[in-house]
Amino acid sequence: MILRQDSDYSDGTVLGSMCTEPHPVAAEAFAAGLHVNLGDPYLFPNAYRAERECIGWIADTLLDHPAPEEAEGSVVSGGTEANILAAYAAREVTGGREIVVPATRHFSFEKAARMLRMKLVEAPSRPDYTVDVDAVQDLISRDTALIVGIVGTTETGSVDDIEALSDVAEDHGIPLHVDAAFGGFTAPFLREKYPLPRFGFDLEAVVSVTVDPHKMGLVPPPAGGIVFRDDEFPKAIEVYAPYLSGGGASQYTITGTRPGAPVLALYANILELGEEGYREIAFRCYEETLKVVERARELGLKLTVDPPHLNLVNIRLPDRETAELLLREAEREGWKISISTKPLGVRVVMMPHLDAETVSQFLELVARVLDG
Ligand SMILES: *Cc1c(COP(=O)(O)O)cnc(C)c1O
Repeated sequence: MILRQDSDYSDGTVLGSMCTEPHPVAAEAFAAGLHVNLGDPYLFPNAYRAERECIGWIADTLLDHPAPEEAEGSVVSGGTEANILAAYAAREVTGGREIVVPATRHFSFEKAARMLRMKLVEAPSRPDYTVDVDAVQDLISRDTALIVGIVGTTETGSVDDIEALSDVAEDHGIPLHVDAAFGGFTAPFLREKYPLPRFGFDLEAVVSVTVDPHKMGLVPPPAGGIVFRDDEFPKAIEVYAPYLSGGGASQYTITGTRPGAPVLALYANILELGEEGYREIAFRCYEETLKVVERARELGLKLTVDPPHLNLVNIRLPDRETAELLLREAEREGWKISISTKPLGVRVVMMPHLDAETVSQFLELVARVLDG
């Protein structure tokens, strides 16, 4: 069939993706929900309720919400839509037009800024590619609508000091959005053993968080997540959809018709894996990451962030030519890799479909290429 020549995750050659093989129960639930349109809660009240429960679970289990039943949110098309919604809501509530973002921000913020006619004000990184919080403070203006912090940057997996950002945001009365698209399903558990900050709603300034079920949540795409502290921000972007069954419904998503299958898949994973299952996956992936780090050091490779904050290893590359050569050699050996540009490096995202043993073979290739 048409997919035969495409990648799948099972052979361990996909090194640069933040998506992975869905959990089998998620795949089954997804298939059962193909007809479900969450844009029409009157027709699918139970699927809609499942979405409310998933948001409540994320708020409670991952985001330390002191009152999880007050959390509002949606399973959306991805982290991109989630970040756009966060920026949109902040613009509507505050009237501000500037977003102070880490220089490491995902390109979804560029989409948000262009669509919403807002301006990104970029704060520089520290050597470990977390945002410089003092710089954030200096960049705040009368027009700041939102400050953004990242839990798991796309290029190095770095985790910003969200607690310090929250203090700054609170001092200036500015809302804080946390982009935990990648780290949302792992950092809350890894924090039990490793030095990671809190980033949930127990921090006063946090008004919204992006958490992607289609990354470390093991849900098939499209499944992003946006969770708001309460209904203040979503109310500001709510639109009434009058023609729907049962007399209409309100929405605060970009899309109207919304797939229910990803929600059912997430719901199934929450029932099957729950907090304990997700904790195990988070630790397994991070422990494999540390083994990869060990091997990289043995081979004399230089990591951009050492040790990595989450399950992502970024190996420094000296120049563009080496990156090009590595891309060619990796393709020849069947690895699907991804190059980061700021800083220049090769990213290995230690998703559940990878283990240290497989990745070590790739590291040997990197070492060969670097040795010229
Ligand atoms: C993946 C990612 C996004 C974008 O998510 P999509 O699901 O690809 O739209 C945004 N921010 C961060 C930090 C991410 O890792």
